[in-house]
Amino acid sequence: MRAPQGAIRYSCQSDDFRLTSASTLLLPLDSSMDRLRSLLQKDDPFLKPIKLAGNSFPGIWTQMMPKELLSLRFPEERRATCMNCPKSCYDGFRADYRCCTYHPRISNFLLGLGSETEAGDRAIDRLIKRGMLLPEGMYSTPGQWIDFLDDQQQDSFGSSEKVLCPMLDQATGYCDVHAFRNAVCSTFFCYSDHGKTGENFWVQVQTLGSQIELVLAQWSLQEAGFDLDAYFKAFDALAERIHTVSTLEGWTVEALSALWGTWAGREKQLMRECAAFVVEQRENLWTLANSQAIRESKAFDRAMDTIVPEHLEDEVEGEELDEEGEITLSPSDTWDECLEAHDRLWAWPKGMFVLSPNVTFVPNPRVDDEEKYYSDKDVFIEYRFAADRPLEWRLGITPLEHALLKAFEGKPRSLDSSLFGITTLTDPKTFLTEMLNKKVLWPKKV
Ligand code: SF4
Ligand code: SF4
Repeated sequence: MRAPQGAIRYSCQSDDFRLTSASTLLLPLDSSMDRLRSLLQKDDPFLKPIKLAGNSFPGIWTQMMPKELLSLRFPEERRATCMNCPKSCYDGFRADYRCCTYHPRISNFLLGLGSETEAGDRAIDRLIKRGMLLPEGMYSTPGQWIDFLDDQQQDSFGSSEKVLCPMLDQATGYCDVHAFRNAVCSTFFCYSDHGKTGENFWVQVQTLGSQIELVLAQWSLQEAGFDLDAYFKAFDALAERIHTVSTLEGWTVEALSALWGTWAGREKQLMRECAAFVVEQRENLWTLANSQAIRESKAFDRAMDTIVPEHLEDEVEGEELDEEGEITLSPSDTWDECLEAHDRLWAWPKGMFVLSPNVTFVPNPRVDDEEKYYSDKDVFIEYRFAADRPLEWRLGITPLEHALLKAFEGKPRSLDSSLFGITTLTDPKTFLTEMLNKKVLWPKKV
């Protein structure tokens, strides 16, 4: 069925924002938890985030994603400064939830791993209490999906009163499953240092991660002895009464009972069982992810279409389903697209380039929070679409980066190795590629 939360969406990134201090605090051993605990290694990398170009991702990416992904040159996203959220400062986002006005689908095995931390364990209890936990993981309802579409149409993402992620600890503003968040949350940067080219790269990585998470959620359910056929039959049956399956908080008791079957009452145990199978097969996750298609209830998906009010129809995104209700793109297909997007990210085009007239340089006065955040940068690039337009964005840069950009001011230059002679920047190519993607440098016909 169509994912109620939409396919490609939002979340938050930085691990200094919303990383709970209790993220790796192991809970006391309980007999029902033995299997997962016994399979986890001391300081297991699955329980800790990894850093790629300064960005934080779930530790399971070390095994779940193709190995080559970790050696790709990731963009360093410096403008999504979650500690000092620019969207909250300048764009009307709520200061508490920021970009977490969204219901991500978080797979069962990620939640099972998260239950190894106090914060994650509490967050699962919250999900169970409000009826937002299904065997596949955190899963919003048809009613919540309509709320999400409504927010989309009202352009109230970031300021929504209705769609608030239950994994966010309202008291602290931290994500309780930061090290276990899904691919959508992990790859969302409200601003990309590489502009549209960067956004496209992250969308491809997000699609890849989401596909893998869905396959592994279903694979691990089967391994745990959960009856997946009965689960999808229950979804098919619920399609006939789709208007009655949602409460304000989550799924109705009746819907939950049908979907959980004999596992009702053992929800957290199933999350941990699924995590245990994924941990046990840690060396084979990429192969497993490509070994079976994602199953969904086509009947439920069709029923979802019937509940969309006419004024929200434009907000609905399609997905590629075949006749059996399976999403047909495989992770390895998407991986190829990731690699192409990555090539585009770092390619130096031919031609001559100049500094855009939309750019001005101003000294960093180091007064407000953002300026202090860039305290090691002496200069701000300020970008406006025209001289009389409001500030579109700004970014702190070093004197060496400033001098390199000034070399393009009114003087067309090609992007080639000759640039290495005019700067002592250690990696001018990375910096200039970012500037190109952000339209700080423009093509110039000569
Ligand atoms: S809106 Fe951007 S900067 Fe703010 S928390 Fe989300 S990703 Fe971070
Ligand atoms: S899971 Fe965490 S990062 Fe994702 S939307 Fe919820 S609180 Fe935000």
